[in-house]
Amino acid sequence: MATLQLSALEKRYPNGFTALHGIDLAVEDGELVVIVGPSGCGKSTLLRTLAGLESITAGELAINARRVNDLEPAERDIAMVFQNYALYPHMSVYDNMAYGLKNRGVAKADIRRRVNATAELLDLGALLDRRPRQLSGGQRQRVAMGRAIVREPQVFLFDEPLSNLDAKLRVQMRLEIRRLQKRLGVTAVYVTHDQTEAMTLADRLVVMNAGRVEQCGTPMALYDRPATRFVAGFIGSPAMNFLPVTVRGERLELPDGGELDLATGLDDGAELTLGVRPEHLTTLPDGAAMPASAVALDTRVELIEPLGADTLAYTRLAGLDEPVVARLDGEHAVAEGQTLRLVLTGERLHLFDAEGQRLAERRCAVDVVS
Ligand code: ATP
Repeated sequence: MATLQLSALEKRYPNGFTALHGIDLAVEDGELVVIVGPSGCGKSTLLRTLAGLESITAGELAINARRVNDLEPAERDIAMVFQNYALYPHMSVYDNMAYGLKNRGVAKADIRRRVNATAELLDLGALLDRRPRQLSGGQRQRVAMGRAIVREPQVFLFDEPLSNLDAKLRVQMRLEIRRLQKRLGVTAVYVTHDQTEAMTLADRLVVMNAGRVEQCGTPMALYDRPATRFVAGFIGSPAMNFLPVTVRGERLELPDGGELDLATGLDDGAELTLGVRPEHLTTLPDGAAMPASAVALDTRVELIEPLGADTLAYTRLAGLDEPVVARLDGEHAVAEGQTLRLVLTGERLHLFDAEGQRLAERRCAVDVVS
């Protein structure tokens, strides 16, 4: 049983740089919270602060409602799994897993029982006599996890544990981590810059930006209702399309001069950003009528990426520098250089103000999300 409570947690490095600006976050017992954000946003700093490897300069960290700010790493009952595994090369798998327990004076029979049970859990039983160099990347990663599991910690911290693995193995290990974490029922905080990994693993996702929490919620909540343009652009792959638009009465003027019926309640001339995900742009079958309150985006296809089930079309829209990306059905015949009419409806759109904040739905006469 473990809960984590971060209250106005701040980290200022000795050189005066503030890497964390007052983080508030509560992690429930047995929950897997994934911290995601671009390079340098403070993810590793946050994790290291939780582990006790970095001091906390203001605010409070509590485990099970007990303040642990000043506890040494070893006293926090937290285990950390790193991206570089940090295995001892001269020790066998067994000794790597047993090392921490030996150091803490755990009885030999108890160590044997715990290491064997964990090896079983991780399918490492046949590899216990091997050295790390005699293992594959995925097996090493499992040993690194095993070393954390045998300690039976209250909280697991993962710092980009899969970033050294190839794409296929990453997917496999991702599933394995998720399965193990749920089976063991441990509380876990997982850092990654890979948003697909973040979406698929998390019970709750925390998006960080420049040392602050931008938004926290379930992966689908962040996908469906990103609170800021930053979150909207970070969650989802390929990224959401952003179109600068201007309020014209009850309509929005698009970059190519088209107009979409969408009352925002804002003053005429207000400049907004309209966000639409590639999967929410559709095409019209030949001869079909445009749906009511929809607008056509007449684009030219610049690049096609066939992914099998889907095809990504990178298109050019008049008046916009960035390409508009549409995710089309893989069966859809489309060629580079052709014109493509994409349909934008009033549904599943996202509107952001000049500061990048989501426009509150109550300000819109039309519900701008589905
Ligand atoms: P990445 O995904 O690249 O690992 P991150 O989100 O984990 O990035 P951090 O490593 O936490 O980012 O770094 C956050 C900020 O703090 C960065 O601007 C970094 O330069 C700065 N920083 C990290 N360590 C120190 C330090 N010891 N002293 C001063 N500044 C530091």
